[in-house]
Amino acid sequence: MKNLFTKKQYDNLNEYLQSAKHAAIITHTNPDGDAIGSSVALSYILEKLNINSTVVVSNDFPDFLHWIDGSDKIAVYSKNKHVARNAIKTADVIFCLDFNSLDRIEILEKIVRETTVPRILIDHHIAPSNDFDLKFSYYPISSTSELVYRIGIRLLGTKILPKNIAEALFCGMLTDTGAFTHSSSYPDFFKIIANLLDSGVDKNKITRLIYDNFSECRMKLLGFALSKMVVLHDYRAAYIILSKEDLKNFNFRIGDTEGFVNYPLSIKGIILSLLLVEKDDHIKMSIRSQGNFDVNELARKHFHGGGHLNAAGGKMPCKYEDCAEELEKIIKNYEEKLCNS
Ligand code: 5GP
Ligand code: MN
Repeated sequence: MKNLFTKKQYDNLNEYLQSAKHAAIITHTNPDGDAIGSSVALSYILEKLNINSTVVVSNDFPDFLHWIDGSDKIAVYSKNKHVARNAIKTADVIFCLDFNSLDRIEILEKIVRETTVPRILIDHHIAPSNDFDLKFSYYPISSTSELVYRIGIRLLGTKILPKNIAEALFCGMLTDTGAFTHSSSYPDFFKIIANLLDSGVDKNKITRLIYDNFSECRMKLLGFALSKMVVLHDYRAAYIILSKEDLKNFNFRIGDTEGFVNYPLSIKGIILSLLLVEKDDHIKMSIRSQGNFDVNELARKHFHGGGHLNAAGGKMPCKYEDCAEELEKIIKNYEEKLCNS
């Protein structure tokens, strides 16, 4: 298996770990399967090295991730500020997982900036910021969970990890690749998946827990969202906009719109898909593309966001009533790129 990181990086990591007793593991706002899977797995890996740790997130994560062993111990700032703040303040090392700049942890950023302990980044987003003392950053890879696998086997000296760690990592590798449809076309990815199966991961069980665990309301919201989809065939783009009212009508729970943005890409010829969801003071965006149309660049330039080549996110600071028009203006500027991609 190709080595992604240098001996010096691992030596530095070991040095930090030798003097650590309690670690905080922080992942991004609106945590997804990779964020939660990689963080919980790292927590168990640290436990094997006799380091206590707490996973901290700024807001809650979807129900379809609650089966992950250890997810019930995650400190969610929006639910228990004291526990979350304390876990960060008392840590002697802070791991930052699945994000590349501290603004991605929103409310937790200030608390982290007030600490003086080392910050270690493990992440697969392009161009990490300078907020970290040690970086395990590599973007041409499936997921942060895959990076945690690679670091974990190095630290623990075994390719076959305990089942609970393997399940959490499998979850991240599965969800961040759209169930192995993208960002996973290299042999090492499947070698690692094979090793996770050797650890006892039940692929079918986990796949059903993640993908076949939705509420009736969520399915009906999906149908409604698809019926509202606007397709701009001339620009090879499609978008869906959901208002707060729409979400309320379908009894929205966090995580319910996860995956919606992928559906428009199944339409013949469509290579850009955008999902816009109205929040209290902004419009949250999820963006996906096929091929070499770079949505990371699009999100950074127009939507105060970022992500990867084919999957990104961001925000529009406008009103719900105005966002379709604003969005179409931006899409139309990309006509040439979209038509020639
Ligand atoms: P999703 O659409 O699933 O929420 O996010 C897709 C990708 O875009 C993820 O890799 C995520 O880290 C990134 N992303 C989502 N929202 C934001 C955002 O507001 N800012 C930045 N920088 N990245 C985001
Ligand atoms: Mn990820």
